[in-house]
Amino acid sequence: MTVTSLQTSAAELDAADPLAWCRHEFSGEVRAYLDGNSLGRPPREAAVRLAAVVEHDWGNRLIRSWDEQWFALPLELGDRLGRLTLGAAAGQTVIGDSTTVMLYKLLRAAVDAAPDGRNVIVVDRENFPTDRYIVESVASERGFTVRWLEPDPVAGVTPDLLAAALADDVAVVTLSHVAYKSGFVADLPTITEQVHRAGAVVLWDLCHSVGLLDVRLDDADVDLAVGCGYKFLCGGPGAPAFGYVAARLQDRLTQPIQGWMGHADAFAMGQGWSPGPGMRRFLSGTPPILAMIPLTASLDLIERARITTISDKARRLGRFAIEATDTLLAGHGVTVSSPREDALRGGHVTISHPAFREVTRRLWEADVIPDFRNPDGIRLGLAPLTTSFGEVLDAVASIGELLSRR
Ligand SMILES: *Cc1c(COP(=O)(O)O)cnc(C)c1O
Repeated sequence: MTVTSLQTSAAELDAADPLAWCRHEFSGEVRAYLDGNSLGRPPREAAVRLAAVVEHDWGNRLIRSWDEQWFALPLELGDRLGRLTLGAAAGQTVIGDSTTVMLYKLLRAAVDAAPDGRNVIVVDRENFPTDRYIVESVASERGFTVRWLEPDPVAGVTPDLLAAALADDVAVVTLSHVAYKSGFVADLPTITEQVHRAGAVVLWDLCHSVGLLDVRLDDADVDLAVGCGYKFLCGGPGAPAFGYVAARLQDRLTQPIQGWMGHADAFAMGQGWSPGPGMRRFLSGTPPILAMIPLTASLDLIERARITTISDKARRLGRFAIEATDTLLAGHGVTVSSPREDALRGGHVTISHPAFREVTRRLWEADVIPDFRNPDGIRLGLAPLTTSFGEVLDAVASIGELLSRR
């Protein structure tokens, strides 16, 4: 491959892209945005809907909007998210809180429901900081032990690695579906089954897979899951997260932040907490309604695009990013720190070089925006709804120019 043939192939891939229409549904001007895995771009419709809610639902309907729509919104939007992106039947997904708080609530609920003698939480050292910290805090609150997996940073958590940690003292295993550093995709169905065979419960963090991969939670018989609203879901900064609890478990779990909005009859305002029906019991206080509105717009786009088409494009974008890196950057000593096999890679490709901290700073100045991850990684975030193949090539070529100028 040469630069020219990469250019030709980027142009061909963009011309044949079944999601090319979708780029125009997003606002903002940027030369090359490769960070949609950290903060998705705003759907144009998000601003329109937010303005309408402020003007009409909030402005004119005022408090009546709680009865008319807001009280039900966390559950209705959760069901829609579940149907379009999680393979989750209705009644198992709720929107609310940050990922951190939702993770805390579901993990604590699972730990508290564990049978006597099961007092270990399994998690891996490569997991996202908040996941590791929450596991440690719940373990210390409840007198549980943390059993750490030490995966290869690129190869990720495999069933073989997990097998050694599973024993009859394990209560919960919590893992990321897609690793935030390498983009490695864990084998969710196999691991879920493996955890069940060991008599434990699994809690998947879907932050880097929701809105990107065709996640099938019900098919895999997953117990619990959480995920982020502002990455591939394009819900905007601080968009609320979601929690998924399999229907068969809901009545057996009690979450720790027992506020009035999760009560069986919130407006009775009675003494003592009793859990609401279904997923309502996993809510706590007043949900962030305004912060949910952009998600209604991005889910419309995801519905139109279809999750399978989105995940196909993610694979092609990743393959192209790796091809461009091999062609233009390998000579500068850049290595690929993500799986090369399509099925094992999520929505970003991480590449490594000692100069990348400085290179990232210069890229940002030039309006080319990937992100930097310690110690020497650039993550090329590939968001199928918005990222073009031309944009990927522009970013990789810019990195090559900066490296050759050094
Ligand atoms: C982005 C991300 C989070 C973010 O948690 P917040 O509470 O939204 O800040 C958590 N876990 C993983 C794996 C993530 O990638």
